[in-house]
Amino acid sequence: MEVRTRMAPSPTGEYHVGHIRTLMYNYAFARKNNGKFILRIEDTDRERYVPGAVERIQDVIKMMGFEWDEGPGVGGEYGPYVQSERLDIYKKYAEELIAKGYAYYCFCTEERLEKLREKQKEHGVSKYDRHCLKLKKDEIEKNLKANVPRVIRMKVPDHEDVSFDDLILRRITINSDAVDDQVLIKADGYPTYHMAVVVDDHLMKITHVMRGNDWVPSTPKHILLYKFFGWEPPKYAHLPNLKEVGGTKKLSKRFGSVSVYEFLSEGYLPEALNNFLMFLGWNPGTDKEIYTLEEFIRDFSIERIQPTDLVAFDRQKLLWMNGLYIRNTANADLWKKLNAWSEKFDFYLHGKNAEKEKVFAVLDLIKDRMKLLSEYNSLAHYFFEDPEIEKDGLYSYVSDEERGREILEGFKNIYSGVKDWSTPVIDKISHDFISKRNYKPKEAFMTLRIAMTGETATPQIFDILGILGRETVLKRLGSALNV
Ligand code: GLU
Ligand code: ZN
Repeated sequence: MEVRTRMAPSPTGEYHVGHIRTLMYNYAFARKNNGKFILRIEDTDRERYVPGAVERIQDVIKMMGFEWDEGPGVGGEYGPYVQSERLDIYKKYAEELIAKGYAYYCFCTEERLEKLREKQKEHGVSKYDRHCLKLKKDEIEKNLKANVPRVIRMKVPDHEDVSFDDLILRRITINSDAVDDQVLIKADGYPTYHMAVVVDDHLMKITHVMRGNDWVPSTPKHILLYKFFGWEPPKYAHLPNLKEVGGTKKLSKRFGSVSVYEFLSEGYLPEALNNFLMFLGWNPGTDKEIYTLEEFIRDFSIERIQPTDLVAFDRQKLLWMNGLYIRNTANADLWKKLNAWSEKFDFYLHGKNAEKEKVFAVLDLIKDRMKLLSEYNSLAHYFFEDPEIEKDGLYSYVSDEERGREILEGFKNIYSGVKDWSTPVIDKISHDFISKRNYKPKEAFMTLRIAMTGETATPQIFDILGILGRETVLKRLGSALNV
């Protein structure tokens, strides 16, 4: 039997990092077993539908390096893969359930249901009271003819243990008395998630469903529906959800980005983000921490997923890992990524049109400090643009302005005579100069650094001077002396 997994996003908002983690597990499992990975759009909740979300989700999934074998834009044997294009299918199957006595029409008005909920609140329950289950055949016919607004509800059996064997959480049993007569088809003709997910997973021949464990309480409804239809359910594996370090619930914007798009726009590399997300629920049982997607596919197994409720999303660790990936990326590749990133997210990029040789020399100097692509500009700006210097800052490492000017004049003089402009040469003559004049290294080199870069924390100043070139250095010394 071919392994077939799926990811079934709802276009109700942004695609979150937790979604990509779940997608990656489904993707890896399909790839590892030479199976198929399917993308299905679950857009049946018209109230929460966000225009543009379908496109955004697909864009994000592609940016993260995943492709699907069947789904929107790709097609496949079991399409359409967008639920709003399958309404007739759900209707047909819901009517089949009615015919078999596993579902019924409900004509209750919103007011009636509201009153019911109010009354039930006092007793701490919340379940449909099956008012419409008692309707006579001719009453139902009459209502249907008159087109009275209606939904279709599933008829959940009484006092029945519903069990399934989760591949991660083992056997789970929930008594049917805890399950409401779930609406299957809403008044607008759209199916609910529960109806659509069962019909589609069956028709699309999905063999394994990995999803967040917040869906565990819904699974008995799905199991019952499979039973009503006489279908074999897929294997379920419910995954831990993500939470903030120190938090008890899900990820929160208060702590930083949550959506994948935001993380990418901040300058996280997809490879680093994927690597980090792989470990949120799974680990290889070794101390290998750096994983490509290929390696993950090779080593992934459902058995090694933690049967826990929540796993911590350690933002510091993610940042560290991103820095590591940036450090380990060759300059040419990193420059390509920076260009693609700045174009995609519409950010300015210093040195965009500069010579590659210069850019690569700059990257060599700043790469170790760069944890995010977005930090590039603030680390690299002075290599490509003259800094803005203020007098106060410029002379803050010398006793007074006069001494500072003397130092800068001195550097200007010795540098203007240098023919062979290179880092070791500048290093040597600069040191010779300050010892001859008895300047302290700190006062001299900090003043020089500020004049050259406008910053106090930079890489080695002579490396910077080497890249800037003699002309620029002399020009900047001149401007600094003019402020
Ligand atoms: N559309 C559901 C969601 O957005 C899919 C849940 C499932 O995988 O069954 O989470
Ligand atoms: Zn009713």
